[in-house]
Order: sequence, then C-alpha cells, then structure tokens
Amino acid sequence: MSSILLKNISTAVTFDNKDRIYQDIDILVVDNQIIAIGKDIKAEESTEKVDCSGCVVLPGFVNTHHHLYQTLFRGIKEVQEKPLFPWLTGLYEFWKHITPEAVYYGAMLGFSELLRTGCTTTTDHHYLFPKNTGVNLIDEQLRAASEIGIRFHATRGSMSLGRSGGGLPPDSVVQKEDEILKDSERLINKYHDNKKFAMQRIALAPCSPFSVSKSLMVQSRDLARKKGVMLHTHLAETLDEEKFCVEKYGKRPVELMESIGWIGSDVWFAHAIHLNDREIKVLRGSGVAHCPSSNMKLSSGICPTSELVKQGVKVGIAVDGSASNDGSNMWEEVRRAYLLNHLKYGTEGLSAYQVLRMATRGGAEVLGRDDIGVLEKGKAADIAVFDLKDIAYAGCHDPLVALVTCGNTSVTKLTMVNGKVAARNGELMTINNESIRTEAHKIASGIVNKERG
Ligand SMILES: [Zn+2]
Repeated sequence: MSSILLKNISTAVTFDNKDRIYQDIDILVVDNQIIAIGKDIKAEESTEKVDCSGCVVLPGFVNTHHHLYQTLFRGIKEVQEKPLFPWLTGLYEFWKHITPEAVYYGAMLGFSELLRTGCTTTTDHHYLFPKNTGVNLIDEQLRAASEIGIRFHATRGSMSLGRSGGGLPPDSVVQKEDEILKDSERLINKYHDNKKFAMQRIALAPCSPFSVSKSLMVQSRDLARKKGVMLHTHLAETLDEEKFCVEKYGKRPVELMESIGWIGSDVWFAHAIHLNDREIKVLRGSGVAHCPSSNMKLSSGICPTSELVKQGVKVGIAVDGSASNDGSNMWEEVRRAYLLNHLKYGTEGLSAYQVLRMATRGGAEVLGRDDIGVLEKGKAADIAVFDLKDIAYAGCHDPLVALVTCGNTSVTKLTMVNGKVAARNGELMTINNESIRTEAHKIASGIVNKERG
C-alpha cells in the first residue's frame, strides 16, 4: 500500500456535482484513489507529505486529441504558413519515413510535456502506417505510456483513401480496409480495458472524411459498437473539408456523419468548427475536442465552444498534433481556449472556471469516463498541483483566473497519475529526461534529412 497526503492546499477545485471549491484543505491518496478531502487529515508515519501552501490543486487535465508522432516534425520549414490541406500534403512526404522506434520516442516526448504541464490522461490519434513499416506502431505508444505512467486512450486511426482513389494522402501511406479492421480488432482484444481506473483503452478512429472511404467509416462503426469501444475522427475542421464532402457525397461533414450513424455518446470529433445551428444541435450528446492552437496556426477557424456547451455537446480541450501547435503544453492550451473563446464571444465568453472544467471533467466526459476528472473520495488519484508562489502571479486576486490568464510557469509542482507521482517541478520521475530528449531529436533529424536528401 502506498499513500500520499497533499497538505495545506490553498485552493482545491473539485469540479464535483456541487462545484465545490475548498480553501486550506488536505487530500489523502491511498494506492490509486482519493480517500479523503478534509481539514487537518492525520496520516500514518510512512505516508509521504507534500506541502501545498500557495498552490491550486485540480484534477489532472484530460487531453482529448493528439498525434504524438508529430512531436518529431515540428518547425518543418516547407510547411510553415500553410493551411491544412497543403500543410498535410507537404508533411506526408516526411511522415512516410516513420519507424516503430520513431513512434515510441515521439510518444515519449509528447507524454513528457503533457505530464509536466498537468495532463494525466491523454488520447492519441495515430493514423499513419507507411508501407513496409509493420502495423504494430500503436503497440509502441502503449509501451511508452505504460513506462512513463500516463493514462492513455490510444485510437486505432486509419487512412484508406489514397490519391489514386480521390483522397488526399499519397498511396504509400494508406492501408487496405481489411488490414485496418483486422489490426483494430487485434488492438481491442489485446489492450482495451473497460474497468474502472483503466490505464489503457482503445477507440477506433478513421482519420477524416477526405482520407478514408465511407465503407471504412461504416465498418469501423460496426466493429466499435460490437466491441463496446468509442469512435473518433476529425470533423468540420476546414472549409476545404466541407467542399470535399459536398462534392464527393453531396453532404456537409455533419450530415455525412448523421447519414452513417456516427453521432452519439460513443463518438467524439476533433475540431468541429464549421457548423451551422442545426448541426450544433445534432451534436448534442456527442463529444468535441477543441484544439485552439492548431486552429489558429492552420487558420482553420474558431470552434463555437459557447454554443456547443449551451446545446449540451460534451466539450474537451486538446493540444492536437505537435506539428500544428507546435507543443503538447496542456496548461498553455487552456489559456488559448479561454482567449479564443473571448475573441469570439466577448461578454458572453466562458469563465476561467468553465474553461478549466472543460479541460478536466469535460475531457473525461468526452471519453466516457466518470472515474477521473473530479476531485472526490473514490475517484482516481489523478491530480495536478500548481504552485502560484511565483512572480508571474503576484498581484492576482483570483487563483483560477491566475492559472488561466496570467501566463504560466509551464510546469506543475507535481503531477500524479493513478496515485503515483509522474512529474515533480518539471522532472519526469519514471524516465531519464535527457536521454529521451537527445535520442528523440536524433531520430527526428535522421527522418527529416532522409527526405531532404
Ligand atoms: Zn488532429
């Protein structure tokens, strides 16, 4: 049995059903659960005590969309200042060289930055399986997640519609549909854990309407529902995508999803920007991963977050792939979500509390989980501790506003996943930070140089 007592917490924001916020409070964690929240909790001699005076404590952030391999492809000069479609076609040429080793190290980089910035659960959307690379790339991500100690929802992404079939990606990075479905089933059987406090789950995630066939969407839907796993894809991200869907299918992106039954509590979409009023209502009960940095960098548009929340759509926040962000800093993403929401809605904008809720409990709801995202007795001990004793916050009169709008010091004092401390003051506890950094950078340079020749 292991136990940790977080003592003298200045502010603990629970995001429970009563929206409770505590001052000067302790939290006791035993094994992987929160056991008590209260004043002056007494603990055994052997319990580790962490002084949290001057700190805000939240449930760990939940990142609802990422492409971890893209951490190796940041700042590629050939694709800067480009919108989504030319950005993608430029990057496919580099991405086609990825290897299982690159996928492992790319995942380690992304997980590291997520943990350092308060994220305790992340998803990933890996859809790139270049010919001759083998199909076991997601296994490498799952291995990395388990080694570093982050809660991980891997999605089995896919692309089946190459250029010769009218899609966007080159034929060298797409797969046959039976191969995709076979590997999807293998991953679910091997790794998906639907129990409470699961550390690893699998979802199925055909990449987007412009890179898979409708038939693969339908077959993925059937397999996911037969196996009881969730569905995920990119949707309504750009006007180029909308044009593609109208020309190919005679339907707008959301209409296409409706026509094949890809709507509901077991589905979440990345982006959901270009929606009309009817489509926002159609998405009620489904989930959306809002990716503000990516949407700004690729000039995709602004997600209608306030309207989605108002209409009962589940909204989480996400860093998206690092090549369009270019970071995996979840804390920074919360700040950008808040600012972008205010750019669009002004006085109707969401509060700091609402945006932080979106990044924690909101993300957990998107992923269909009620065991994480809340600080409450019996919930998973996924906790982020933010130390506000820094010059960046001096003079701020509200700790939640401080977290969201004062900029940030980038790393948490402590990030705990499933009762284990994964990061302290920016240092990862389970891996050698420096060797991961140097090895990942070496692999990234090798791949990029291979393409440039
Ligand atoms: Zn994405």
